[in-house]
Amino acid sequence: RALPLLNPHPALPRRDVDRQVDAELVNLLFRHSRGLHASTALGSVLIAALFWQHVDHLVLVLWALYMLITGLTRSLVAHRFQREDIPAADAGAWLARFRSGNLLTGLGWSAAGILLFLPENQVAQLILTVIIFAAIAASLPSLSAHRSMFVEFALLAVTPLLLRHVWAGSANNLIAAALLLFLFPMLAAFALRSFRQMSDELRARFAYADLVHELSGEVAVRRHAENRLLELASYDQLTGLPNRSLLRDRLEMSVTRAKRHNRKVAVLFADLDRFKHVNDSLGHHAGDEVLRATAERLQAGVRRENTVARLSGDEFIITVEDFESVDELRSLARRLLMAISEPVALPDGSDVSLTASIGAALFPDHGRDVDTLLQNADIAMYRAKLAGRNGFVLFSPEMQAEALTRLSREKALRRALDNEEFWLSYQPQVDTRSRQVIGVEALLRWESREYGLVPPDEFIPLAEDTGLIRPLGAWAMQVAFEQAKRFEESFGAGFHVGVNLSARQFDEERLLEIITQNLERSGVNPATIMFEITESVAMTNAHSNLALLRRLRAMGFGLALDDFGTGHSSLAYLKRFPISCVKLDKSFIDNVAVNREDGAIARATIELARALELDVIAEGVETREQAEWLQEHDCFLMQGFLFSPPLRAHECPEQIGMGGAQNRPSANG
Ligand code: C2E
Ligand code: CA
Ligand code: CA
Repeated sequence: RALPLLNPHPALPRRDVDRQVDAELVNLLFRHSRGLHASTALGSVLIAALFWQHVDHLVLVLWALYMLITGLTRSLVAHRFQREDIPAADAGAWLARFRSGNLLTGLGWSAAGILLFLPENQVAQLILTVIIFAAIAASLPSLSAHRSMFVEFALLAVTPLLLRHVWAGSANNLIAAALLLFLFPMLAAFALRSFRQMSDELRARFAYADLVHELSGEVAVRRHAENRLLELASYDQLTGLPNRSLLRDRLEMSVTRAKRHNRKVAVLFADLDRFKHVNDSLGHHAGDEVLRATAERLQAGVRRENTVARLSGDEFIITVEDFESVDELRSLARRLLMAISEPVALPDGSDVSLTASIGAALFPDHGRDVDTLLQNADIAMYRAKLAGRNGFVLFSPEMQAEALTRLSREKALRRALDNEEFWLSYQPQVDTRSRQVIGVEALLRWESREYGLVPPDEFIPLAEDTGLIRPLGAWAMQVAFEQAKRFEESFGAGFHVGVNLSARQFDEERLLEIITQNLERSGVNPATIMFEITESVAMTNAHSNLALLRRLRAMGFGLALDDFGTGHSSLAYLKRFPISCVKLDKSFIDNVAVNREDGAIARATIELARALELDVIAEGVETREQAEWLQEHDCFLMQGFLFSPPLRAHECPEQIGMGGAQNRPSANG
């Protein structure tokens, strides 16, 4: 027998399952109590008819009336129960109602046993017994549902009958009593068996419901998780744009479509310019805001059929299918660049403007598969960056060769440290008043087996991009410290060695550890070392970097602000950073004597630096005029080809003649 689920909603909390079982039991009891009412009514009528002659009519009528009323009440209760949708929580109350109904009926029947058993008529007694048992049996389905209820009812009805027979003491009565005693356990066994069956069935069903519940819960959770995974797998969480994998799918479809219809597809690769700078200096929230705004603007800038996706970090891809010419693509890129460069409002009320560089590759011209298209668009984007950023570049095959060169250089650079292809050159710095060499700047040199002498301006950015700058920088520091110790010994204290630190080296938590280690190992006086940092070091991760710089100063190291005057440098930084020296950038010095503006800035810097008791070293001094101008404006510390190119360590002189340009090309990359 398949029982229908009382509660069709399987999403019940586990603790409610017990109450659910109760509710189901009450439901069964009431449903089957109809048989009890019918048999009770029929039995009452029969007894009244049979004993009309033998018993006082009034007693019989009262008894029948009582039976009728209880029967009626019970069917009314049952009716109400069946009409109402019984919440599981009410099961207890309904069970009590059912029990009291049973009790009243049972009492009525036992009264019959006592009141109506007056006749000595054996046949009448037998008939009465059969009727009582018939009534009990008829209500079995209901009684068997509940053990206690069966016992209550059956005992109430049967006990007086038994007592009556035993009391009468006749042989016939004893036989009747024995018969009852035999029938009663049979009835009980039968009832108990069906009760057990039913409760087992119920328990099984609720265990099943429980399982269903659990499963459905689990299924729901899993489905949720799957959806979420799918979402994560297809969409970027920050911008809501399709991510790399969804982009690939879509791009593949676009390419397939384009093949079929003999059309073109453009893949635009957009990368924000100097995004890392925003992230580092303004925080990740600002960075996120910029990315979100960029995503929105890109999406608004293209038609719906085109996909805008976020590849990673600050890289976005726009696929364009509906374009007629490269010119149209170009103007689209220009529009997108304009949209991106609009200021982005930040949560703190300020705003920030960023530009982007866009590269594009076309199907089928620049690649017939997704990977090649993305790669070539990337190469074109890189070209746009090189070309000065905030621009658009369409891929061309020559670029690929360049990119390959870059790639193989990267490989060569990775091997270079093991191959001992690096060395340091030292460029003297002069005090033009005394003509003394006051120090040198250590400059890294790479003599590649494959490429020959590679200029630092080429391999340092490569090393920074690949993270190789860390081991490389650590190596350079070690060599420079050891050499500095030797300089210290031969030139005495007061001589210093400039060591360049790239911003990427500051990303490393171990930087201080590396410095301390080298300091101990070389035994050099920290005052001999002058770290050269660019302002970007001080700008990025402002707090932690600043703390580290202060720490280095406290340890006794010199600190020079390199390339001062390029980028965003402002005089205000001079006060903010714990520096001891400013290096005026070559680009200033170049024009210092001819360009009024450059001259004015240089002069202001020199004055301010002096007010702040900072040394000023002019870099890249190549001509006498420059040197003279600088001296006139109270800047006497200089570095440049006018005095000396970078040299091998053993070539470094103690003194240098003014203007004696010793352009020995040997050591200068
Ligand atoms: P920088 O720190 O500004 O170094 C000065 C650069 O100017 C050196 O170029 C030097 O050779 C060059 N220079 C000096 N005097 C003159 C001059 O009169 N005229 C001209 N035209 N150039 C002059 P170099 O050695 O090619 O280094 C380029 C850059 O590479 C350096 O610029 C520095 O940023 C980086 N670099 C070099 N060595 C290291 C290093 O060990 N670690 C790190 N992180 N960066 C380094
Ligand atoms: Ca430098
Ligand atoms: Ca410099």
